[in-house]
Amino acid sequence: MPLRFDNSYSRLPSRLFSSVEPTPVDAPAWLAVNPTLGALLGLSEEELRSSEMLAVLAGNMIPRGAEPIALAYAGHQFGNFVPRLGDGRAVLLGEVLGADGARRDVQLKGSGPTPYSRGGDGRAALGPVLRELLLSEAMHALGVPTTRSLAAVLTGERVYRETALPGAVLTRVASSHLRVGTFEYVAAQRDEAALAALVSYALERHYPDHTDSEVPAIGLLEATLEAQATLVAKWLALGFVHGVMNTDNCAISGETIDYGPCAFLDAYDPARTFSSIDRGGRYAFANQPRIALWNLARLAEALAPLVGPRAQKTAELLEERLEAFQPRFDAAYAGLMRDKLGLLEQREGDLDLARRLLSIMASDRADYTLVFRRLIHSVEGDDSPIGELFASQDRLAEWLAAWRLRLQDEPTTTAERAARMRSASPAFIARNHRVEEAIAAATRGDLGPFERLRTVLARPYEDQPEHADLAAPPGEEQWKYKTFCGT
Ligand code: AMP
Ligand code: MG
Repeated sequence: MPLRFDNSYSRLPSRLFSSVEPTPVDAPAWLAVNPTLGALLGLSEEELRSSEMLAVLAGNMIPRGAEPIALAYAGHQFGNFVPRLGDGRAVLLGEVLGADGARRDVQLKGSGPTPYSRGGDGRAALGPVLRELLLSEAMHALGVPTTRSLAAVLTGERVYRETALPGAVLTRVASSHLRVGTFEYVAAQRDEAALAALVSYALERHYPDHTDSEVPAIGLLEATLEAQATLVAKWLALGFVHGVMNTDNCAISGETIDYGPCAFLDAYDPARTFSSIDRGGRYAFANQPRIALWNLARLAEALAPLVGPRAQKTAELLEERLEAFQPRFDAAYAGLMRDKLGLLEQREGDLDLARRLLSIMASDRADYTLVFRRLIHSVEGDDSPIGELFASQDRLAEWLAAWRLRLQDEPTTTAERAARMRSASPAFIARNHRVEEAIAAATRGDLGPFERLRTVLARPYEDQPEHADLAAPPGEEQWKYKTFCGT
């Protein structure tokens, strides 16, 4: 087996996982493979595409060195604490030491029931599997920290949701699967020794520079806060709605994880939700920083027993640490918006300038991605491409004038400015209607649209004029588009 396993999670206290093997499937067949990611894991393209690897990634063969486990975790789902969730449809094969020296979790998602399935079938349908593959790899190409997708395979079996659907297994690769919910799980069981072991494990694995903090739990909170603040700033700058920011879907590593009901905005609307179950708008686009902080507060609570014996003082200490979130988020977000506006130097009022544009976009329901991409033409003096996206021409003209004034006192070339904007504002995002189209075709056995979309999304900052149709927004009928949790 070319994969080099070293399974550190299995050496943690046993309450953190259950040993369980994937359930074999009838007739594995390839849907998609990711040779670039394979190479990072030390696999040649030939090894990745081998029949042996197909059997492994379908769950029909356990590779040498793997120690399959399902991870235990708890979580706050839409604000309500569930003390025991865990991997109900996934199995961690183990950790692979990559060609670059990095340690990565290799997990099969949709691999059959586990002790945490709670009545679920442990399986996944083709649609959600292809969706996660497309979206996670698109996020990676956009430069957003994320779990990745090594492969998708058909199982040859049906899964039963509202209808019978083709079953599939996704191979998810992550820098780890530690979540806020992992800490909540151990804290709820009042196992302080396990909690302390978990903290030092997380620090060593993700934040080795923080291992010497006087109180390790505080070091972990600070590092996770930093990672989450910068992550969510990237989501907002790109118009991404995660959709189910429960604490079990909030990774300690700061990677985007769990691509169930996520979606990119088309028409800009800060209150936009996509998930059919998010009726109160808890996970709406503009609410995401607040929710990230809420999740970090749950992490702080879980870690509190390790911080000190005096409850009052501990609470104050942690509260103080959490106050760092907003300024950290604001700085990261302002930096990204500055790049999108083509501003090189940091000035007070920049964020306000961005917000004024966003407010016109919101009232005109202008396409989020296209506005920023077309602003590049305005740097070059042509306002007609951006103008087409707005009804309020006067408000737009007024904003463009203010923006030009701000550009004026920064000496640089048009080319330099445009290049900066081109690398901050993609031409292509995974538009919902295109993702749905690709999934529908794949369900009929035609992988063409999926492969095309995937190839284009691998280079999102390049214009690729021959694929202009994939950059175009959907019609207004998509303003009510809903997503469903990817089970
Ligand atoms: P998610 O909404 O994807 O974060 O999943 C929440 C919880 O439901 C996790 O514990 C999952 O493992 C579990 N779950 C989701 N779908 C299934 C399924 N088909 N079978 C068993 N467990 C599932
Ligand atoms: Mg989840």
